[in-house]
Amino acid sequence: MNAEYIVNIVGLSALFAIIYLSILVMSKMKKIQDLNSDVNRLQKALEETDEQAKLVVRTDMELNRAQEELDKKIKSLYALQNLSRAMSTTLEENQIFKKIDPAIIKELGLDKSMAFLWEENAKKFQLTLSVGYSEADAEEIRSFLDYNQDAYTNFINAEKTISSTLSKKDDTGKLNIYNKFKVNSFVLSPILPKEGSKGILFMGTDYADAPITEGDKELITILANELGQALENARLFEKTWKAQQELEKKVEERTHELSLALEEVKKVSARKTEFVSSVSHELRTPLTSIKGYASILSTGKLGAIPEEVKLRIEKINKHSDELAQFVNDLLDIARIESGRISMSQSSEDLKKIVAEVADLLSPQLKEKQIELKFDLPAGSDVAYVDRGQIKRVFINLINNAIKFTPEKGTITVSSHKINKDIQIDISDTGCGIPQEAQNAIFEEFYRVDNLINQQLKGTGLGLTLVKNIIEAHKGKIWVKSQEAKGSTFSFTLPQ
Ligand code: ADP
Repeated sequence: MNAEYIVNIVGLSALFAIIYLSILVMSKMKKIQDLNSDVNRLQKALEETDEQAKLVVRTDMELNRAQEELDKKIKSLYALQNLSRAMSTTLEENQIFKKIDPAIIKELGLDKSMAFLWEENAKKFQLTLSVGYSEADAEEIRSFLDYNQDAYTNFINAEKTISSTLSKKDDTGKLNIYNKFKVNSFVLSPILPKEGSKGILFMGTDYADAPITEGDKELITILANELGQALENARLFEKTWKAQQELEKKVEERTHELSLALEEVKKVSARKTEFVSSVSHELRTPLTSIKGYASILSTGKLGAIPEEVKLRIEKINKHSDELAQFVNDLLDIARIESGRISMSQSSEDLKKIVAEVADLLSPQLKEKQIELKFDLPAGSDVAYVDRGQIKRVFINLINNAIKFTPEKGTITVSSHKINKDIQIDISDTGCGIPQEAQNAIFEEFYRVDNLINQQLKGTGLGLTLVKNIIEAHKGKIWVKSQEAKGSTFSFTLPQ
């Protein structure tokens, strides 16, 4: 082996060695590179995980805060609900604001509150609520509002709640509020009842770390609305109550006036009865003399009288009788009205009374060929009455029925029981009574203006007397009538 061959071998070996080493170095380099990129990836993943962990912590904290906020809101809502209930049951305006006490304000998460009503006439704010302020502070704030009344009445009329927490960006208006009301955060809400004065509700706190949230603002707006509603209710109630009082007063006054008028009417009526009674008495004495003298003259004891004179004396006698009857009726009406008549009541057989009356009136019945029918069944033919007075009732009513019934007509007297009383009906087939006169005929001197009345004499006292007698028996009398068909006079009597 020569040296050149050896050198070549060594050189080749060295070359191979270099190539091999290069390959080795290159593969290591690659591995290092791969490792590096793995490290980078891991680093990134680690950073991301860290970020996520931070996010989780942040979200958790936010959730906690939201939960706290929610709890606070629920508590406030409960407080507000109780307050609304208390206010809605109050119907006195000055009591409404008293319901907003320090405990409730605390439950709303605040510690200061004031309310004012704007008095339009006096152009002044009236303090209606003050919690968390001394009297002097409250008065100072009230004067402050008065001084800035344009701004604050404009605020009311804008009908919008404002809330604020102290910050550098605040304008002077807000800065004034922080200063005057001595707070760091506040809500100012208008009180807007539909009736009467409007106002302002202020709520605030001076805790720097308890800023007013949107939720607080909403709640206080609701409270101001509730206040407005409660004031409106109280004012409407007050109005209704006043109207009722006025009405009651008027009714009382009218009742008093009416009772005075009634007293007066009673007095006048008593005086009239007295007058009628004394005039009737005065008339009776000369009437008795006239009748007496006329009788003596007509007997001829004082000398013979010619036939013509006799006829006139008889007329004097007849008219005196009529006048005496009239005076007696008047006297009886006056006596019954003044309660001076003495009634002697006993159980009387009505059939007998009616038969006597029919007998008495038979000449008139015969003259007009009027049939008088009776229907007084057993059980309703006995009444507890003053016989003489009830006989007068039948005489008057049947006599009237004859008077106002044309020839060949029918008159029916019937009776039936009504509870403890007896009802008697006297019906005729006469001319009837116009509807508008049916009440008036029981009044003194009232007579329907018709042909029969123009031809026949009458006083208009008969039915008044009848009514008085029936009422003295605690009964009632009424008439049902149809013109040209007939009338039914009905009355009740005790059994
Ligand atoms: P007088 O019969 O004297 O007129 P009354 O008091 O008895 O007075 O009656 C008052 C009026 O009532 C009568 O004038 C008459 O117009 C009316 N009247 C009474 N009874 C009847 C009757 N049965 N039918 C129709 N009208 C009657």
